[in-house]
Amino acid sequence: MPYSSRFLNLPVQLMIVSLTNSSRQISLRKVPKTCPYCHHAITPDYVAGLTRPGVGSTLSSADITFQCPACRRLFVAGYRKADATMVLKSVPAKFLLEGVANAQPQLQAFEPAILDLSPSFAEIYHQAQAAEQNGLNQIAGLGYRKALEFLVKDYLIRESPEDAETIKQTFLGQCITRLKDDRIRAAVERAVWLGNDEAHYVRRWQDMDVSDLKRIIGLVLAHLHLEDQHQLLQRQMPAPKPK
Ligand SMILES: [Zn+2]
Repeated sequence: MPYSSRFLNLPVQLMIVSLTNSSRQISLRKVPKTCPYCHHAITPDYVAGLTRPGVGSTLSSADITFQCPACRRLFVAGYRKADATMVLKSVPAKFLLEGVANAQPQLQAFEPAILDLSPSFAEIYHQAQAAEQNGLNQIAGLGYRKALEFLVKDYLIRESPEDAETIKQTFLGQCITRLKDDRIRAAVERAVWLGNDEAHYVRRWQDMDVSDLKRIIGLVLAHLHLEDQHQLLQRQMPAPKPK
């Protein structure tokens, strides 16, 4: 039976075992606040922990297994000893939270209309999010730029199916002249500039980053949603024919 208790106060004092099977008391400054699986805000339950030895008699790191009280899944958080001092039996060593292993990326949910329009957009966007949440910002930027290209091109192909082959083979920067709405064309144009910067060696837009690219993709999605809703309304409530 694993020992389990709801932590209410920090720091948390734990008795955990070392690789040599001796028990030690350690003190955690922080516990993970979000479940890596269900992404709920949680106070995790402690299940088990193991310290790994450092040089001499110092403790260098600890792996702590927690359980999420919401989805009940187990996850391992990595801790590092706060300083390199020798471990005294009387004073619990302080450990700092370094990260959670195998955290699942939190992926944005898209409306069915977007998934219908461009399944590739959703897939690439989710891969970019996974890269971003694992700290791979350079790759994330390229991913968001590619996702945007699929979204815009699939939209343009839906609007002009007879030009599908031309649209597929044309650079995004040239396709956007086909966008009828001035504001959305201006937003996508900026995303094209930004996206190109993610791929190029010299950044022209020094102050803008991945979050700006995501913001512009958000504007495009909002625009598509608004357009779909307008079309739906007109289909459902067509203007009466003049008598
Ligand atoms: Zn959970």
